[in-house]
Amino acid sequence: MKNFSWKIALLWTLPLLVVGFFLWQGTFTTPTASSGLSGNTASTRMTYGRFLDYLNSDRVTSVELYDNGRTAIVQAIDPELDNRLQKLRVDLPANSPELIAKLRDADVNFEYHPAGNEGAVWGLLGNLLFPVILIGALFFLFRRSNNMPGGPGQAMNFGKSKAKFQMEAKTGIMFDDVAGIDEAKEELQEVVTFLKQPERFTAVGAKIPKGVLLVGPPGTGKTLLAKAIAGEASVPFFSISGSEFVEMFVGVGASRVRDLFKKAKENAPCLIFIDEIDAVGRQRGAGIGGGNDEREQTLNQLLTEMDGFEGNTGIIIIAATNRADVLDSALMRPGRFDRQVMVDNPDIKGRLEILEVHARDKKIAPEVSLNAIARRTPGFSGADLANLLNEAAILTARRRKEAVTIHEIDDAVDRVVAGMEGTPLTDGKSKRLIAYHEIGHAIVGTLVKDHDPVQKVTLIPRGQAQGLTWFIPSEDQGLISRSQLMARIAGAMGGRAAEEEIFGSDEVTTGAGGDLQQVSEMARQMVTVYGMSDLGPIALGGGQGDQVFLGAGLTSRAEYSEEVASRIDDQVRQIAEHGHQLARKIIRENREVIDRLVDLLIEKETIDGEELKQIVSEYAEVPEKERFVPQI
Ligand code: ADP
Ligand code: MG
Ligand code: ZN
Repeated sequence: MKNFSWKIALLWTLPLLVVGFFLWQGTFTTPTASSGLSGNTASTRMTYGRFLDYLNSDRVTSVELYDNGRTAIVQAIDPELDNRLQKLRVDLPANSPELIAKLRDADVNFEYHPAGNEGAVWGLLGNLLFPVILIGALFFLFRRSNNMPGGPGQAMNFGKSKAKFQMEAKTGIMFDDVAGIDEAKEELQEVVTFLKQPERFTAVGAKIPKGVLLVGPPGTGKTLLAKAIAGEASVPFFSISGSEFVEMFVGVGASRVRDLFKKAKENAPCLIFIDEIDAVGRQRGAGIGGGNDEREQTLNQLLTEMDGFEGNTGIIIIAATNRADVLDSALMRPGRFDRQVMVDNPDIKGRLEILEVHARDKKIAPEVSLNAIARRTPGFSGADLANLLNEAAILTARRRKEAVTIHEIDDAVDRVVAGMEGTPLTDGKSKRLIAYHEIGHAIVGTLVKDHDPVQKVTLIPRGQAQGLTWFIPSEDQGLISRSQLMARIAGAMGGRAAEEEIFGSDEVTTGAGGDLQQVSEMARQMVTVYGMSDLGPIALGGGQGDQVFLGAGLTSRAEYSEEVASRIDDQVRQIAEHGHQLARKIIRENREVIDRLVDLLIEKETIDGEELKQIVSEYAEVPEKERFVPQI
């Protein structure tokens, strides 16, 4: 918020200053004529031609020249007004030296007023004033922002930059608010005791781990867990993100580390939380060019600081990352982050507990079963689940309902998984084609035994997709069999196969692009990672997808010959083609029910999985799908 205010100040003052510049330029540097003219109130103007006429007929008595001879105040006699004297203003052409001669000939009294000194002084002042004010203003802004984290002042005094860390005196988060990651919680319970009663450990000569590394995918509650430890122990919580250490200026990161530890020591016992530590803690000297100096300095400083304090000063450092594998081994050795705690996506029981935590402060209709939601959401992280309930609550408010019902939950799940709902297509050829494409996926998914069952098919666009076929994922995400993978490949091919069978191969569309990409990825992994092809159970290529260092992939050569590479491509193609042919066969043999389902889908926009299965079973034998149903 503070950050915000100075930006606004800067945004507003700059244009003002610039506008002011022009104004001052205007008023101070060209007053040449006006300062003299303002005395002679010659408001009546006369053309130059008329002036010459007057001059020829000797009616002009005196002329005063201003503005480098471009304006003249002329005194003339007007015979029509009893020969009264009249002051008239004339704009003269830029170059009229003959005028002077003429005036002399006519014996007119003339006077030349050069661009006044007065004006020049003002002009000079005006020119100086702007830079002075600008410098003053910038100076002021820099000084102000020095005290603020993230202000531009860093550029001025990066030597003693203030750390960008935040201190929360009380996080207000308790272990109760963290659910579904019981093992991690248990591991960390001890840390709370240490922060609260260090004597208990020091009395028996035990050394407490200084650092705990939380490892897990994003959104699983690592930050939350760290906050809960601080909350439970009621100690201050310092947090900083690893990416904030890495700055443009060499040395800033290291000095931030120093500042952070200094502040922490002043506030001990306390907890330091370093988020995304992989941003600074990557293996040194990896990748092209040996890495980044600034980052290495920061990391070295971090290591030094961690060594520097005795085990019992009451500071615990908790770091979080989702890539423990890339961390520098110096960070992991005993005395530093020697304890690693895995924080994984929750299982079904964990999901239920997390849902319960986040349902506490929401009005949820009594008939909604959190249990059923937990069942529907394998693979969701804690953050996804929190987001899901929040989306549902927002939808409920928008629909002016009293409490969240299962409809809002369903819509929220769809939204969290597949993105925002779009407006339905209007009927037409492309809608028909999309309907065939989706029913293609659905029918293959229904009739292939090892495929996940269809949950629903819909023509309502969502996110990038024009239509969607939803499958009920199985709970056991860990192990997938070869036949399941083959089934998924056939299912993914279902869309394109339907387009081909029904509209002919000239009419196929780009809509299958995403499907084909998935197929290639799955097939390639089957061959190179899981050893599920004719090449045999052998890992080929060593997980290129895991490379995080730029350039690491360039230097590590493929561990197989050209010949094997082409055999891999061959196998991948075979697997994909097998799925494609299976899908086409299923579509061909079930054309009648497909046509019926497409009509129904276009009419209703969405067909539920149960109804779909019902209809298909009137035409063909639908295999019963074995489902692993976990007990809660
Ligand atoms: P991470 O740091 O692992 O990426 P966060 O701790 O920032 O994830 O989690 C983001 C939000 O998701 C939390 O504020 C919380 O609302 C919710 N959340 C995540 N995991 C859990 C959990 N295990 N129990 C309760 N809420 C959770
Ligand atoms: Mg986090
Ligand atoms: Zn598709």
